Amino acid sequence: MSTGGPPPAARPEPIRPRARVRFWGTRGTVSSPGPRTVRYGGNTPCITVEVDGEAPLILDAGTGIRGLGAHLVETTRDEPLTLMLTHRHSDHVLGLAHFAPMFAWRSSITVYCGDGEATSLESFVRQLLSPPLVPYIEGVTTRLTVAEWANLAPLALGALTVVRCRAQHPGDAAVLRVDDAGGPLVAYAPDNELAYHDESARVESWRRELTSQLHGVPLLVHDATYVDEELAAHRGWGHSSAAEATRFALECEARTLVLFHHHPDRDDAAVERIVDQAREQVQRAGPSLRVLAAWEGLTLAV
Ligand SMILES: [Zn+2]
Ligand SMILES: [Zn+2]
Repeated sequence: MSTGGPPPAARPEPIRPRARVRFWGTRGTVSSPGPRTVRYGGNTPCITVEVDGEAPLILDAGTGIRGLGAHLVETTRDEPLTLMLTHRHSDHVLGLAHFAPMFAWRSSITVYCGDGEATSLESFVRQLLSPPLVPYIEGVTTRLTVAEWANLAPLALGALTVVRCRAQHPGDAAVLRVDDAGGPLVAYAPDNELAYHDESARVESWRRELTSQLHGVPLLVHDATYVDEELAAHRGWGHSSAAEATRFALECEARTLVLFHHHPDRDDAAVERIVDQAREQVQRAGPSLRVLAAWEGLTLAV
């Protein structure tokens, strides 16, 4: 029956995010808990990319993975999980022994690593999870499957595809780009020296290639270990300043930049100052880029 009035205005369709990215550990190099790091967190790198109906894709296993594990066991069912490591430095792997689903669940956890190291990932992970480093774990690790990432070619994992790009970092490390059917969603570059320079054309072409691989990514999570004044003393250490990360995000035309891998000595006030400076840098450059500093618990819809 008509009420005689004008038809109700069409409601805009709610925009459903393609994915959610959650931050469980944001600190670089070594965990730094305490009153000075309460706001941005002291746990080392771990983030998840979540799409509806699938288990979260876990990137890195720093100490932040402990909080993720507790959350998963409390809120979700036993299900197979995938963990992708960017590389094998201690701040990205030491949380694995404390990942609750390994003890509480029966499903498998498949571990990949995007570094180009020739040494076996299988023996590295087994050693990481063995006495005397970890005395209580025997029998538990049967649930871990360490998988070869054949030729580091794009890897399809359910609705997501992980693309391995090369980072500039001691040893070898990956920048991981996670795509869905609509294209790139998030680029995760926790350890990456953007201004690495050895006078060779190879480095120049690396930087050009990375910019093109990440071009147009909506969300860029990037190493911001240093401020510019600290760079000269740390060339070759494999990390970037927040200003460099901001310039790179502008070059990539990302929509949001999350400054990540905070220096362990940086207190909350110092991280805030770095974000303010990055925002001023964006304003001077003109284009709109949202800049945040990662904190534990931050969840972003993409
Ligand atoms: Zn690191
Ligand atoms: Zn590293």
